Amino acid sequence: MPEVYNWQLGRNMSYPYQAASPELQWAFVFNINRCIACQTCTFACKATWTFSKGQEYMWWNNVETKPYGGYPRFWDIKLLEILDKAHTSAGKDASWDTSQRNGTERPYGTYQGLTVFEGAQAEATPTEVALGYEPTDDEWAAPNLYEDTATGLTSKEGDTSLESTGLPEHKSWFFYLQRVCNHCSYPACLASCPRQAIYKRPQDGIVLIDQERCRGYRKCVSACPYKKTMYRPTTRVTEKCVACYPRIEGKDPLALGQPLETRCMAVCPGKIRIQGLVKKNLDGSWAEDRYNPIYFLVKVAKVALPLYPQFGTEPNGYYIPPRWAPKPYLRQMFGPGVDAAIERYIAPDRELLAVQQLFRATQQIIFQYEIIEGPKVFEAVVNGKNWEMFNDTVVGYGKDDQELVRLQVNEVQYTRPAERPNSI
Ligand code: SF4
Ligand code: SF4
Ligand code: SF4
Repeated sequence: MPEVYNWQLGRNMSYPYQAASPELQWAFVFNINRCIACQTCTFACKATWTFSKGQEYMWWNNVETKPYGGYPRFWDIKLLEILDKAHTSAGKDASWDTSQRNGTERPYGTYQGLTVFEGAQAEATPTEVALGYEPTDDEWAAPNLYEDTATGLTSKEGDTSLESTGLPEHKSWFFYLQRVCNHCSYPACLASCPRQAIYKRPQDGIVLIDQERCRGYRKCVSACPYKKTMYRPTTRVTEKCVACYPRIEGKDPLALGQPLETRCMAVCPGKIRIQGLVKKNLDGSWAEDRYNPIYFLVKVAKVALPLYPQFGTEPNGYYIPPRWAPKPYLRQMFGPGVDAAIERYIAPDRELLAVQQLFRATQQIIFQYEIIEGPKVFEAVVNGKNWEMFNDTVVGYGKDDQELVRLQVNEVQYTRPAERPNSI
């Protein structure tokens, strides 16, 4: 089985498919702290791609409430249980060696446990390329059961306790998890397909299913640990998020030839999303691209973390974790980078604060940014340390270096003239 380097795990791993690295990789960052669960993203995707017969229960984008919600129901709990059993059988521990942290190459240390591929190989008689399961119809039936249901302390009456919601960590808590296909670097869906119907595009790393080749065997549905391939009974083939590839190619009528962010990214009123394309080296590692906003957030500021990196597919979706949720839960979900990411997010340096203005600032994909320094406008003590805010200007540039957006950290405020009072 070929060995590949998975930088999220900080080590080589077995991947049952000869992987070719794309030149650019489609990637995104979601800031969980800002999501209001309005589901505008979910409906933008549905209205664009999954409004036809046989797609009624198909949500390529979904937003679920953690810890109880999931689409399909309990997808991550089931996967973690399967992986846990594999570790027990193999006598291994799913731990991280964080003493091995090393800059951008191994930012979270080294994962010492089994991935879904290695777990499948460790079985006495390996039958599948990746550990997994096929959800039941019932589990696909609702995109977000348990919405806004908190866990944690309860009051004497048995209700969720309102007294336990103080920072730094709420004792009663929930948060929203926004999910689309991660267009993984080492996709389990692709590796599992006996028809070679799934492919990863060399120009942008988008993972697609060839609808002509697919025979609906659903091996990919079972193998994708994130459950982002979905079977359509009317056509008897499997479908998945297509990363809105016509927009990435600049073929949307609005795009004027320039790459646009996907539909679910571009509509987000919470401004939690930013999507881009990162440069890759031939060995699959990220090429240094210091002023690409995604590169900065993931590799330099390290505030955005992969979802369940231990699964081993090297997902290209990254999340700024919620600052109020219990750390052990978040470490299980986003790996050992959680504590440092939250610390940096709570008291961002001036570059991070400026780059955060770029989230949902334009529909066009930002390839580079520049910061023009401004004066100090505010200071405070955050977590016992002095913190300063500067009114810097951030400029975002598109594919051909054209300026797309120019924003200040200190948001401009307009005061309505007294002669035109608010009529509401
Ligand atoms: S549109 Fe944005 S704020 Fe609304 S649910 Fe989706 S990610 Fe959250
Ligand atoms: S998230 Fe699942 S469907 Fe998407 S590329 Fe990764 S393995 Fe494939
Ligand atoms: S990227 Fe496009 S296809 Fe994928 S979930 Fe978002 S809107 Fe749907």
